Amino acid sequence: MTMPARPRALFISDLHLQESHPRTAEAFYRFMAGPALRAERLYLLGDIFEYWAGDDDLATPFHRQVIAAIRSVADAGVDIYWLAGNRDFLVGSGFAQAAGLTLAQEPHLIEAGGRRIALVHGDAQCTLDTKYMAFRAQVRDPAWQRQFLGMPLAQRKAIIAGLREGSREAHMGKSSEIMDVTPEAVQDLFAQADAAVIIHGHTHRPAVHETDGKLRYVLPDWELDAEPARGGWIALGADGAITRHALSEL
Ligand code: MN
Repeated sequence: MTMPARPRALFISDLHLQESHPRTAEAFYRFMAGPALRAERLYLLGDIFEYWAGDDDLATPFHRQVIAAIRSVADAGVDIYWLAGNRDFLVGSGFAQAAGLTLAQEPHLIEAGGRRIALVHGDAQCTLDTKYMAFRAQVRDPAWQRQFLGMPLAQRKAIIAGLREGSREAHMGKSSEIMDVTPEAVQDLFAQADAAVIIHGHTHRPAVHETDGKLRYVLPDWELDAEPARGGWIALGADGAITRHALSEL
């Protein structure tokens, strides 16, 4: 019996890792020690952390454990790429160096089997959510980030806790349409990237959508500390085939 060929790449997003969700973190560690180790490349497509207050917060036991899990996969020879999500956009070079990964900008374009694949987190395509788009423009501004990161860590954590509370309340008042990507933004991305495939997360609506022969894969979020349990990844095979995988395969 021959071993299955090594997947060219695996994609995950929206694990929202946090100390208070230990089963979700355990699933991540199993994924990293299993499928991730066998891949050529691993793409972390945003919101791997529930929040990130700055790279001066590397040393908590929980963060050290997550970083060690990523680092061991990188040290085994897997190339790991990181795209920022809307919760962990403050991850910087200190984290990247500790984890042994490469910070990438979206859209991050890769080629497979003659197809171009565009990778994004997905929040920038939720263009109906004008309040969020304004917030995104603000917090992605380098000047804003410098000012924010200049505050003491405890103060940043308090501000982020307030933002998360506000975001929960805002979400309750938003229709599900507003919280999804728009067809226009998806078309723009396909056109600008000249891509045949998009892979993204953020919306927590795992699916494959086909429009005009172009495919859009949406990653699931991971949650094993609340019902319904969910999670999974997408694989790009050595043959260029894209497949979806559930956590039950771990
Ligand atoms: Mn997100």
